[in-house]
Amino acid sequence: MPVYWLDEIGGDDIDTVGGKGASLGEMTGAGLPVPPGFVVSAGTYRLFIEQAGIDEELFSVVDVDVEDSSALADAAERAQTLIVETEFPEDVRTEILDAYRSIGVSDGDEGTEPFVAVRSSATAEDLPDASFAGQQETFLNIREEGLLERIRECWASLFTQRAIYYRQKQGFDHRTVNIAVVVQRMVDADRSGVLFTSHPSTGDPRMIVEAAWGLGEAVVSGAVSPDNYVIDRADRDVLTATVADKKVMHVRDAETGETVESPVPEQRRQQRVLSDEDLHELVALGERVEEHYGSPQDVEWAIVEGELFLLQSRPITTIGEGEDRAGATASTGDALDAGTPDSGTTDGSGTVSEETGDGEELINGLGASPGTATGPVRIVDKLDELDKVSEGDVIVTEMTTPDMVPAMKRAAGIVTDEGGMTSHAAIISRELGVPAVVGTRSATVKLEDGQAVTLDGKRGAVTSGASASSSEPEPEVNAPPSATKPMTATEVKVNLSIPDAAERAAALGADGVGLLRIEHMVLSLDKTPERYVADHGADAYVDELIDGIRTVADAFYPRSVRVRTLDAPTDEFRELQGGDDEPHEHNPMLGYRGIRRSLDRPDVFRHELEAVNRLYEMGYDNIELMFPLVTDADDVRRVRSLMAEVGIDPNKRSWGVMIETPASALQIEEIADAGIDFASFGTNDLTQYTLAVDRNNEVVADRFDELHPAVLELIESTIETCRKHGVETSICGQAGSKPDMVEFLVKSGVSSISANIDAVRDVQQEIKRVEQRLLLDSVR
Ligand code: PEP
Ligand code: MG
Repeated sequence: MPVYWLDEIGGDDIDTVGGKGASLGEMTGAGLPVPPGFVVSAGTYRLFIEQAGIDEELFSVVDVDVEDSSALADAAERAQTLIVETEFPEDVRTEILDAYRSIGVSDGDEGTEPFVAVRSSATAEDLPDASFAGQQETFLNIREEGLLERIRECWASLFTQRAIYYRQKQGFDHRTVNIAVVVQRMVDADRSGVLFTSHPSTGDPRMIVEAAWGLGEAVVSGAVSPDNYVIDRADRDVLTATVADKKVMHVRDAETGETVESPVPEQRRQQRVLSDEDLHELVALGERVEEHYGSPQDVEWAIVEGELFLLQSRPITTIGEGEDRAGATASTGDALDAGTPDSGTTDGSGTVSEETGDGEELINGLGASPGTATGPVRIVDKLDELDKVSEGDVIVTEMTTPDMVPAMKRAAGIVTDEGGMTSHAAIISRELGVPAVVGTRSATVKLEDGQAVTLDGKRGAVTSGASASSSEPEPEVNAPPSATKPMTATEVKVNLSIPDAAERAAALGADGVGLLRIEHMVLSLDKTPERYVADHGADAYVDELIDGIRTVADAFYPRSVRVRTLDAPTDEFRELQGGDDEPHEHNPMLGYRGIRRSLDRPDVFRHELEAVNRLYEMGYDNIELMFPLVTDADDVRRVRSLMAEVGIDPNKRSWGVMIETPASALQIEEIADAGIDFASFGTNDLTQYTLAVDRNNEVVADRFDELHPAVLELIESTIETCRKHGVETSICGQAGSKPDMVEFLVKSGVSSISANIDAVRDVQQEIKRVEQRLLLDSVR
């Protein structure tokens, strides 16, 4: 049978109607108020390819060497074209259109065609995480005219480059994979929000409701601060009703079906969205849902003309349960997420404990990566000495380099003479979870090879001897105070440089990657990009970039990953083969780096854009390009046309710039007009350029202050202008991990904060605290 109505199916029908269809059917069957809809079954997809006689051709087309990226691109293109250009069998077509015509419209909309959402629903139970499989198509606001085409597009999503690549790699047979499509009426909510059937952090028998005017997107995207209600489950008492100032709402345009943001009429802004009666109805619904599933739930709801609908229900998971929900997004109401129980430990690299050494302090510097570690000192001067670093050693070196990463992974701890909190050693050791002390000035001279030391990567101290409990690895101190990821309107993303750390970062429940530095991927090739291309060809270079970026995009899919184009100063490139050709500069920090270099050498820069374009073609639609060190709108316009030249549509893809120069902050209005979707503060550079303090110079390190009023003024005014222009704002500099900066940014209205991997949990807690205070202040 081509279609099944939601009330005809249940949780056991995954094979026929896919996971999404089965769960909607289950809720409908339980008598819960789910918007009406039907599922175009997996069998229909089969029937379609078999009756049309395209099945054999389809499977032979995708039988390619997936490592050959142009063959893979061709295969995906041909397979998808085959599907979208093949006509429906007449009986299937009639049955789907008949079903659509009887889906009905909301009261009051009689005589109009309903808007429906069309979504793919994966059936392959052997695909452990369908997010890898490319079956993520969702089309909103569809009417009869576009329906059949969208269904074919959902089917074609089985054959994106990413899906083909993934199946081949995992050894799944393309022939056995099926796909169903859910077609469901869209609700035109006048009120909507989220309901937690138990207190999300404490598990108390209280229901929490968040509510705002209009469609739920406004709440989950953080565009509006919702009302917050706490209800006692036992006697249904409304314990607190915190009414927020709801300035905007999302509504559906009656003609196009597009979601648009509009101001809330003055008299409704401070008005309660839900009466006590509404809340009682929601609590009753919450109890039915919880009873049906047998566990606390996080429910998305909507009210249309007084009628309550349930849009989605998910179990409330806590970190302790350790379920990895990579692939979920906080912005879809996934207020609670799971992390790993061991987040914040040192990743098993060497001996870790809470105690500091018993002996005297030998040297100190900056605590760059938290945790303590004990081990014998290994002084490393030259690259060829890396072999002498064994598992559990403490590397002591002037400054780490990309070639040292394998040794850094083996080490218990890292100590450097040079560098600050944003140096290579600091960034990489945080991502590896290895404790580190940087900028000690003279560790390589003062410490002796083989000497037993303990380092404290939080305090920045190195002491003599082993710690009292150095033999047993123990959990890290700075574990979050609460085991649950707090619900925040401001998103919390994570900064990454090494693809190997992606899985660990994704498991923290971060809402995406706010900065993926690709320098590490390039520098670890040990050749400048120019030399690498000359020796191995442009394709090999592009493939290297694709590999690194893809690892991160996969781990986070569908959460967004901001890929920052290359920004290494010439002194770092000089260390590599081909580095002799680098220009000599008095001050590389003020010189040939970031977008300046990229625009000066578009031939080299294009390869980075080509890599991202290829990833888009493979289906990694979660990638966002981000450009470093821009000065003004002219830079942005030039980079925008280069994107278009390689085939990236700047109007279709999300992209943005880093605000790292005072000039860019002062020119933000013009930059916003150039079409960016987001601006992210690179406070490491913004601080160095605003205060004229070299970020790598220990001699003036005490003057490096990201919270300096001059820096804050630039940030605040940039956020204000961006908000007026509908441009999202974020921070991806080191200061985003500092509580004072987090407080300042949340109060200024920043959209997201991207923190270091070790700080994600603390930042989530801090944001929650600040947001609650703001809410309370607004009602007092
Ligand atoms: C910054 O400048 O704050 C930033 C995040 O970029 P980088 O540290 O890579 O220069
Ligand atoms: Mg920078």
